[in-house]
Amino acid sequence: MADEWKYAKCIECNRELQKVSMHGMEGVFICNDCVDSHDGPGKFQGYHDEDLVTALLLYYHSLDSPDESMSQDGWGYCARIGQYLIIEDDRGFVEFSDEGSEEKARKKYDQLYADGWGMDEEDAYIEHSMHGWYVRFGGQNLEIWARGPYDHDDYRGIDQNRCIARVRLEAMKTGFYPNLWLVGERGNISLLQY
Ligand SMILES: [Zn+2]
Repeated sequence: MADEWKYAKCIECNRELQKVSMHGMEGVFICNDCVDSHDGPGKFQGYHDEDLVTALLLYYHSLDSPDESMSQDGWGYCARIGQYLIIEDDRGFVEFSDEGSEEKARKKYDQLYADGWGMDEEDAYIEHSMHGWYVRFGGQNLEIWARGPYDHDDYRGIDQNRCIARVRLEAMKTGFYPNLWLVGERGNISLLQY
């Protein structure tokens, strides 16, 4: 991970390599003093030594030019840089993981996307709870099939397929095909095909 480049500048304090010793990765460099200043409580408090250097370089790289990135209200910001994933949570704490290869990192990133990181207000949602079925599309309620107090297991023939069909119809009508998310009773989220 340690690297040297003649004209490198520290991403944080802007000093040049000739004056200080520097660590680099993918064209981003940081000096020892700046690394030391993050060794303690704060955004990078989980990391020390080489891991702290990696976390800092990935963090700055992710702000500047990640390979892919996404953010979600209440969750934070997630980026992929080569074989690394980095997440800054909504409190500002940073965590990274080395997935071993770019392909594995891509798969993990796609999995996170499908687990809800990719959600957008304008997407389509099917929500299922003890109160019934709700279909939202493009930020609007499309259909609400509420369950009556004495309905027990009877949703009047409404099921997930019926909801998906409703979304498909709306997509055809509007010519807009957003992601479709299923929100389960426990708030679990998954991406559906339609
Ligand atoms: Zn510096």
